[in-house]
Amino acid sequence: MTYGMLIDLSKCIGCRACQVACKQWNDLPAEETSVGPDFTNPQRRSAYTWTTIDFVTAEVNGRTVATFTKSGCMHCLEPACESVCIVGAIQRQENGAVTIDHDKCIGCRYCQLACPFGVPKYEYDQVVPRMRKCTMCYDRIVEGLEPACAATCPSGAIQFGERDELLRLAKQRIAEGNGRYIDHVYGEHEAGGTAVLYISPVPLDLTALNTDVTTESVPGFTWKAMRQLPALVGSVAVLSLGLMAYSKRRAELEAAQKGGGAQ
Ligand code: SF4
Ligand code: SF4
Repeated sequence: MTYGMLIDLSKCIGCRACQVACKQWNDLPAEETSVGPDFTNPQRRSAYTWTTIDFVTAEVNGRTVATFTKSGCMHCLEPACESVCIVGAIQRQENGAVTIDHDKCIGCRYCQLACPFGVPKYEYDQVVPRMRKCTMCYDRIVEGLEPACAATCPSGAIQFGERDELLRLAKQRIAEGNGRYIDHVYGEHEAGGTAVLYISPVPLDLTALNTDVTTESVPGFTWKAMRQLPALVGSVAVLSLGLMAYSKRRAELEAAQKGGGAQ
């Protein structure tokens, strides 16, 4: 079964409750932020801010239209990030969540280069930086709970459920909406299909969604590009093995310290 989320941009009121819930559940620290154009704040995602609400305003038929786009990991059906992770830290789980094992990650940043949505973020402030990203609250889903953002959204803009059912619902809302929505379910085909789906009342270029993304599965492209760099891939692989050994040793030391032992 593939779970997913249907994000209805006509329902988002830009309250950012989902942002706060995400930080709270995942124990992510607060960061200094600033207000950008159109009041977007924070202006971009980071290793500690996994979802943002991007405000976009535009003139449509002489009217100012504002949309709020909840952006984050799309949980691709064929994730490019997973396909390039040389230590297997990123995995698409059987329930559709694309997770990252922080302890396995060596911070090579291949996933950052491969992701068509710019999702994995680097811990620039850490001595040994690794990548962080949304996991669709995998730890909540396996306990029968919704992701924190979906559970918190007061306007029902984020709906969690089985992807097939959400896709059916998205098409039904478009068909019965009397022109309320544009006729496109974003994520049905983008990047080969994603578990996170969007419907929108305004053309997608008036939202923060990436309208340039291919509709083909991305892992094929990324490996074609990687094969052009055999020497680089080889050196990174060697470096990675060293970093893996270092990460393992560090985890052992941390565990020993927590347990009060000495190594
Ligand atoms: S959106 Fe990016 S990080 Fe998320 S699953 Fe797809 S490729 Fe991976
Ligand atoms: S909680 Fe819901 S309404 Fe509020 S910003 Fe997030 S998606 Fe929009």
